[in-house]
Amino acid sequence: MGRLTARWRELVERTRPVHPGTARALAERWAALPAHVRTPAQVLGRHAVGCEGTHGVFPRCNLTCSPCYHSADANKVRVDGGHTLREVTAQMALLRRRRGPYAHAQLIGGEVTLLAPDDHAAALQAMRAAGRSPMSMTHGDVDAGYLRALVTGPDGRRRFDRLSFAGHFDSLMRGRRGAVRPRSEAELHPFRQRFVQQFRDLRAETGLRYHLAHTMTVAPANLDQVAATVRAVLPMGFSMMSFQPAAHVGDARRWKESYTEVDADAVWAELERALGRRVPHEAVEFGDPRCNRLAFGFLADGAWHPFVDPADPAELAARDAFLAHFGGVAFSGTPPVLLAVKVLRVLRHHPGDVAVALRWARRVLRRAGGPRRLLTAARARRLRLMTFEVHSFMDAADVAPAWALMRRGEVAEEPRLRATQERLAACTYSMAHPETGELVPACVQHSVLDPGENARLRRLLPLTPV
Ligand code: SF4
Repeated sequence: MGRLTARWRELVERTRPVHPGTARALAERWAALPAHVRTPAQVLGRHAVGCEGTHGVFPRCNLTCSPCYHSADANKVRVDGGHTLREVTAQMALLRRRRGPYAHAQLIGGEVTLLAPDDHAAALQAMRAAGRSPMSMTHGDVDAGYLRALVTGPDGRRRFDRLSFAGHFDSLMRGRRGAVRPRSEAELHPFRQRFVQQFRDLRAETGLRYHLAHTMTVAPANLDQVAATVRAVLPMGFSMMSFQPAAHVGDARRWKESYTEVDADAVWAELERALGRRVPHEAVEFGDPRCNRLAFGFLADGAWHPFVDPADPAELAARDAFLAHFGGVAFSGTPPVLLAVKVLRVLRHHPGDVAVALRWARRVLRRAGGPRRLLTAARARRLRLMTFEVHSFMDAADVAPAWALMRRGEVAEEPRLRATQERLAACTYSMAHPETGELVPACVQHSVLDPGENARLRRLLPLTPV
């Protein structure tokens, strides 16, 4: 009897829709958010605890980009698997303590594929062990053999069922094999396509499932090529396109022009020009809209459709019900049967959500041309999730003084610095410092902390061991 009760309790615990650690982290995040971002569209603190990234693990990169947000010393630090694994493990442990048992985290440094495949795999496994859903951030100039060794391991057996990669491609990068000094974005299309094809081949060979994001820095020099790039990239097989308007952060020797005139509006206008339609982003906010702009949707037969139309009250009602009742449920990374039970447990308390969801689904289906059309697209493998994002890092010249004031508990009087503080307070992209127990915004990491950290790492991990 006692054992049965214990099993039942365990089952109840496992199928609990939201883990108590996540619920606590969400409540903390929501309570700490500035009032202006606590909108009905806000997912930070209601569904998401925020994204995470590593730092100080492998700062070196073998391409040279202009701009580059790494500090001048980054390329003088040796890539070291043991150091990476120790740091990743410690950083993830702190993130798990502070942000709960589940979050998306980027394995990011310099260039991730400078790690030996086994070290890269060990870092990903350490992140998974801490409940993180990791994404490796690469410049995409990587050989198929490297990826195969990452996936399969020395014994030839597959060690990952699924991998998530972001490939960064833009014409501001220098040193890519075959496109050392690209004169246009179009010159990089074969390299973008090749990157996706490498994963297709891996899937055919090993059964690996994957999620690929395309990331791109946008500066005045390539802004007018964004629309054509979007049109070229959409059919390739990425599931996300993320754009980062260039900021004055990192190695100042790599700033080639003023970046101030390229902002989220300018990039979004190019995106809409590419798709020939409005791309609504108002239904979902992630942190401060000056930092992040997001549009979730899907591609069907080459046409993009949003999941939520902010002009439709019924769809907004569906979003509200989702955030109120399903916020915090880990939809990705949870085994399907377990997820189904979690969803049923939510619906037991909110049976009206079934009708709300059906109304929403009917609208989305109608928008995409009806169920038959979607089914045909799915059969032809022409149906795919596609998220668009603009993430606008801030200039170091603003972040450093704004952060210094925040550390002293002071609100800046100067409007520009106050706006910076507001954005930092609603940051969605955190980096962990186990030595102090602190989580800091990535803007602070790159603008304020990276130079000192890389100078220390340069002594700890010199390129030529002494
Ligand atoms: S890292 Fe910077 S730009 Fe990104 S969300 Fe945080 S504060 Fe905003």
